[in-house]
Amino acid sequence: MDALRRQLLDLFGPHRAIVNEAALLAYECDGFTVHKARPLAVVLPESTAEVQRVVRLLRAHRVPFVPRGAGTCLSGGPTPAQPAVVIETARMKQILRVSPEDLLAVVQPGVVNADLTRAVQHLGLHYAPDPSSQTVCTIGGNLAENSGGPHCFKYGMTTDHVLAAEVVLADGEVARLGSALGPHAMGELDLVGLFTGSEGTFGIATEITVRLSPDPEAVRTLLAAFASMEAACGAVSDIVAAGLVPAALEILDQATIRAVEASVYRAGYPQDAAAVLLVELDGPALAVDEDAQAVRAICARRAALSTEEAADPENRKRLWKGRKGAFGAMGRLSTDLYVLDGVVPRTRLVETLRAITGIGARHGVTLTNVFHAGDGNLHPNIAFDGRDPEQTAAVLAAGYEILELCVRMGGSISGEHGIGSEKLDHVPLMFTPDDLEVMRRARSAFDPEGLCNPGKVLPQRGSCAEPARWPKMVERVLGGGEGR
Ligand SMILES: Cc1cc2nc3c(=O)[nH]c(=O)nc-3n(C[C@H](O)[C@H](O)[C@H](O)COP(=O)(O)OP(=O)(O)OC[C@H]3O[C@@H](n4cnc5c(N)ncnc54)[C@H](O)[C@@H]3O)c2cc1C
Repeated sequence: MDALRRQLLDLFGPHRAIVNEAALLAYECDGFTVHKARPLAVVLPESTAEVQRVVRLLRAHRVPFVPRGAGTCLSGGPTPAQPAVVIETARMKQILRVSPEDLLAVVQPGVVNADLTRAVQHLGLHYAPDPSSQTVCTIGGNLAENSGGPHCFKYGMTTDHVLAAEVVLADGEVARLGSALGPHAMGELDLVGLFTGSEGTFGIATEITVRLSPDPEAVRTLLAAFASMEAACGAVSDIVAAGLVPAALEILDQATIRAVEASVYRAGYPQDAAAVLLVELDGPALAVDEDAQAVRAICARRAALSTEEAADPENRKRLWKGRKGAFGAMGRLSTDLYVLDGVVPRTRLVETLRAITGIGARHGVTLTNVFHAGDGNLHPNIAFDGRDPEQTAAVLAAGYEILELCVRMGGSISGEHGIGSEKLDHVPLMFTPDDLEVMRRARSAFDPEGLCNPGKVLPQRGSCAEPARWPKMVERVLGGGEGR
């Protein structure tokens, strides 16, 4: 291994090849802090050619690699599952081309999501997918996770906004997937669609062509407070049933509201409400006015305690600050936060949330909920002390049951945060061994030797005959094994 590290230092120099154990500590996990594993080394390439060079070197050594953007993933994606070198794209942050006529931008993968919108806003354009981590997460990470965000209810996930990608495959070959005309225009299979959401297991994206969206003529943001979660979820169902398509429909429960209000993300949310519903409407001014009236009427029928509307951009920013900062605000509650991500049919939100509260109580963990209500995409959050193995095991067991519940409700184990290493035990809840075999074949078409982020997304063969009753991650934590 020393020989490999020396070669990496020769290729990248001491500032762009990290081999020092203390410095590598910063790379031992992402936002899923239960899975910790220090990489063999980290390199920071600046171009496609440099990515190619390091991938070829690693292949010669038979050493796997793990792509990494900003490390904000919540499912262990950029944390090595076996000894591997991390290839971080943070230095590949150039916006290579913006074409307002074609409504597209070509970017390197390390461009931060919010920086792209900032760079095109003078043209009246923006990049629509807006994960709450958008001030730090990268377009490369968004592509790999098929990330969503509050505005994806109306505008779709990352996959709806990626036209093409240049990728370095595990053998060092550069492939171009899709085209600026759209993935179907070349008559090829939708390979860029296949790559999107592959969680770093198909190759490293080194250049990405994304769709830009024109800013809407008008935006209205409302916050309705309710005395019960049932009423808040009922208002969401009524809004959708009325044929309205808001840009965003987000709910925060009381525990989240209180954590937000006690933090730097304070937004003036009413703390006595059992839940608040944040609704954003956008489009032509006249239509938005009518829709805002309709939303107000629906909230009134659902006995809203209050309905506030942001009168100017400053107040709109304030209302969003609480929602976007909700995960950060949880940092006040304990040392670690497990952010779950499951989907249920929108009509089963209330029933599911009730059952989730029961699961939390049974495992003795404190749960808070903030979620993309329009999409039925739940994010139960559990604050815990990761230094305590018993507590961590209880949290993981509760998490497993919650995702099992989502599947039983007719939903899924991930809306936007991916599978990574976190949900390997859950995958058999949704897929048969045959389903998994098809997915493995697709993966090996991109990476036949299994060198690209191995041990993620797809469980090993044989582990899918029956869903794990007691997740292996829990066994690892209680046994003090590789999970910590
Ligand atoms: C506070 C907070 C809020 C969040 N809110 C949201 C949200 O609203 N919606 C949402 O969807 N997610 C959310 N996330 C999760 C996370 O931010 C997203 O998954 C994001 O897309 C990860 O981007 P990243 O640059 O941090 O990637 P990383 O975390 O570094 O990597 C994520 C995955 O992408 C792979 N990868 C990274 N770069 C590349 C590349 N160039 N080519 C191929 N694979 C690559 C990695 O191997 C890994 O599997 C949130 C996270 C936090 C901490």
